[in-house]
Amino acid sequence: MSSLHEECGVFGIMTPQPENLAHLTYCGLFALQHRGQEGAGITVNDDGVFTTHKDLGLVDHVFSPQVLSAFPHGTMAVGHTRYGTTGGNERRNCQPMEVNHQKGKMALVHNGNLSNAGRLRSVLEQRGAIFHSTSDTEIIAYLITQARLQTDSIEAAVRLAVPQLEGAFSLIIMSAQKLIAVRDPHGFRPLCIGRLPDGGYVLASESCALHAVGAVFLRDAEPGEMIVLTQDGKLYSDRRLTGTEPRRTCIFEYIYFARPDSVLDGVSVHAARKKAGALLAQMHPAKADAVIGVPDSGLDAALGFAEASGIPYGIGLIKNKYIGRTFIAPSQSERDSGVQLKLSPIRETVAGKRIVLIDDSIVRGTTSRRIVTLLRNAGAKEIHFRVSAPPFLHPCYYGTDIDSEENLIANHHTVREIAEIIGADSLGFLPVEALPQLISSDGICNACFTGDYPTAVEQDECKERFERKIHG
Ligand code: SF4
Repeated sequence: MSSLHEECGVFGIMTPQPENLAHLTYCGLFALQHRGQEGAGITVNDDGVFTTHKDLGLVDHVFSPQVLSAFPHGTMAVGHTRYGTTGGNERRNCQPMEVNHQKGKMALVHNGNLSNAGRLRSVLEQRGAIFHSTSDTEIIAYLITQARLQTDSIEAAVRLAVPQLEGAFSLIIMSAQKLIAVRDPHGFRPLCIGRLPDGGYVLASESCALHAVGAVFLRDAEPGEMIVLTQDGKLYSDRRLTGTEPRRTCIFEYIYFARPDSVLDGVSVHAARKKAGALLAQMHPAKADAVIGVPDSGLDAALGFAEASGIPYGIGLIKNKYIGRTFIAPSQSERDSGVQLKLSPIRETVAGKRIVLIDDSIVRGTTSRRIVTLLRNAGAKEIHFRVSAPPFLHPCYYGTDIDSEENLIANHHTVREIAEIIGADSLGFLPVEALPQLISSDGICNACFTGDYPTAVEQDECKERFERKIHG
């Protein structure tokens, strides 16, 4: 229920024979809708002829049956669901980004943010580049097409271009003949590959999108890996695309972003959330009659808390699935009313009870206060608020719009004060030290909680772009 903004979802598919890949890509994007709701796009490759449709809006708004049926059949396609973490919410920033260059065509989809985008853009502009969008993706496209002029294959161009990038990038690149997946050396954002029954391949941000098109999960792309799929069905991999950087998986993918039925880097998102709930039960126990979660990402953690504490699990809040995300509302008052429209309490679960309420995060505190008020109005006697993440203290420069520091409630208030502000009887956050336990690995990014950024960050430039995005 966080007011955080997702990143993007990427999808790619290759089949041995021409097929209705626009439809399959649509199904994949539908499964990745939670990763981006501002825009969507598909490019189908029919023997080197690219057909693209992209626009602002949800997947099923952008792709009516008429639009989908106008696509030709093809043997390759890429798709994207967008949340614009950089660049404005404009059609020109939607993806796939299609590029014509001297040696052919390329379509690119990208999830993540570059932490050196400002420097790269300015160097390219000094060399004469003219950018048509404000997104990082065009910078990547430019670097690859420049490198392509000096190389004899698209993968050689990717090999030259990628080491110049810093930050988070899970990319799928489609040329006339090949489909290429690239994951940044820290592995901030997920990317996986699956196999279709006909021998084709699928690439996707999350495994849930593989299942949506009938593909079987093969494996995750490794951090720093390039996977090349060729039209004759071959797959080869280069794991030395970049230097040997430590893995820094975004832990917030597990806590909030990813779908609970996805498995990222071998760890079930559902299991990681349950673990967070179980740890909260140990570290911040409460005497209560029921444990409830804030839909959707608080539900799994609530189950984990209930199992570990022995307090019965209950459904205490129902989400109206047919309403847009709270964060789409631009003003604070609109955000407030968005919570009421979006959630309603189940009186039978909460009236007269002491409730443990689990949510994935507290950003400004406004949403949390509204939820607590909803439950109080429904008769809850006590509300013990537990958060399956540590307090947010810093922005993210890797593709998540965590609010600016001055708006993060934990930057200005103690836990006791936050409890008072949101109206909870008690409040407990998952400590930073517990985060590696969620995925049994130290290889995580936790910079939004600690300020320990895994890459050098061009702070002023990043902050300026970030502020533009958050505050318009
Ligand atoms: Fe994820 Fe936070 Fe790191 Fe951003 S700063 S990549 S949200 S853990």
